[in-house]
Amino acid sequence: MIRLDVRNLTKHYRRGDAAAVRDVSFELPEGKLLALVGESGSGKSTLLRLIAGLETPDQGSITLDGTVISSPAAVTPPEQRGIGLVFQHHALFPHLTVEKNIAFGLRHLPRGERAAVIAPLLDLVGLPKLGGRYPHELSGGERQRIALARALAPNPRVLLLDEPFSSLDARLRQSVRDETRAILKERGATALFVTHDTGDALSIADRIVVLKQGTVQQEGAPPEVYHAPANAYVASFFGTCNFLPVHSLPHPSGARILCHVGPPGAREEAAGFGVWVRPEDLELVRPDKPDTLGGIITRVSFRGAYLEVTLRCEAAGSAPFDVSVRHHAPFMVHPGEHWAIAPRPRRHAGPEPTRD
Ligand code: ADP
Ligand code: MG
Repeated sequence: MIRLDVRNLTKHYRRGDAAAVRDVSFELPEGKLLALVGESGSGKSTLLRLIAGLETPDQGSITLDGTVISSPAAVTPPEQRGIGLVFQHHALFPHLTVEKNIAFGLRHLPRGERAAVIAPLLDLVGLPKLGGRYPHELSGGERQRIALARALAPNPRVLLLDEPFSSLDARLRQSVRDETRAILKERGATALFVTHDTGDALSIADRIVVLKQGTVQQEGAPPEVYHAPANAYVASFFGTCNFLPVHSLPHPSGARILCHVGPPGAREEAAGFGVWVRPEDLELVRPDKPDTLGGIITRVSFRGAYLEVTLRCEAAGSAPFDVSVRHHAPFMVHPGEHWAIAPRPRRHAGPEPTRD
């Protein structure tokens, strides 16, 4: 069932300004986690504010469980939407204990019934004993979990999270986002979160919507946007991606297109023929190996588990171009050496793994 349906949404803050959000459409099915990802200024917070009911759209509509809650004609007030919010700096009330913070969202319940809701939520976020603590007595990760518990307490139909991990350091971030996904899944929550961090989006979401300058570039499952980007922008946004110019070669059977990777002729260059290849899908091979593309190593960066190697490829009659390759030991390579690149053989050729 579609919980939230965003249709052709457009929003200008001021007449004459470029649209902050332009003709954006996506669906959020019940029980799924959707990430809105894009660089700063791409319209993520504006979309969240529109969904929360804090802004009125210029065009389009937002439908929650089959009822239109936003359109240019009418906007249901935020408090009547059944939507929960978790903000960037998880804003717990500093003068209230954890229990009282969570109870804040339960004011509609008689006092006596609140404890019965709070205890299972503290269990859910793995902090059953911390109900009496104040926010300053918690670690960053614990505060994040309490903020989540507080937002989940009133059982929102949709939970909105704005950059929920941005105040956490890199080490904590990885574990907190895994925990957050596990908690939301256990609860069966329907959630939409915005982030500028592609790692957040890839590791948490069931579906990802990629935004650029207020427009949707692609919508898909994490492996789709990573391995089958819709355009050059999406390809590069999710990490280094090489554009390798290609020549097309005639194939006698006519059934396949053969590509020769290498410097383009004038005609191909004009047409922009090429293939996008991620550094981890290439490997370094001896330069005398046939059907490879040779070059000189210009940079080797140690990344811990692998080396990020830049190869400057050059051939007669064309401008040199750089290719980035992820190289795993066993052998070391150094700047100035001649090497060649080849596609890394795929270990398995099945469909991409999917999430529930
Ligand atoms: P993001 O959250 O992806 O960084 P925003 O939705 O905050 O992007 O902003 C999208 C665009 O709308 C930006 O160009 C921003 O400057 C503009 N904008 C955001 N809020 C306002 C506002 N209250 N008034 C005018 N312009 C705004
Ligand atoms: Mg923002």
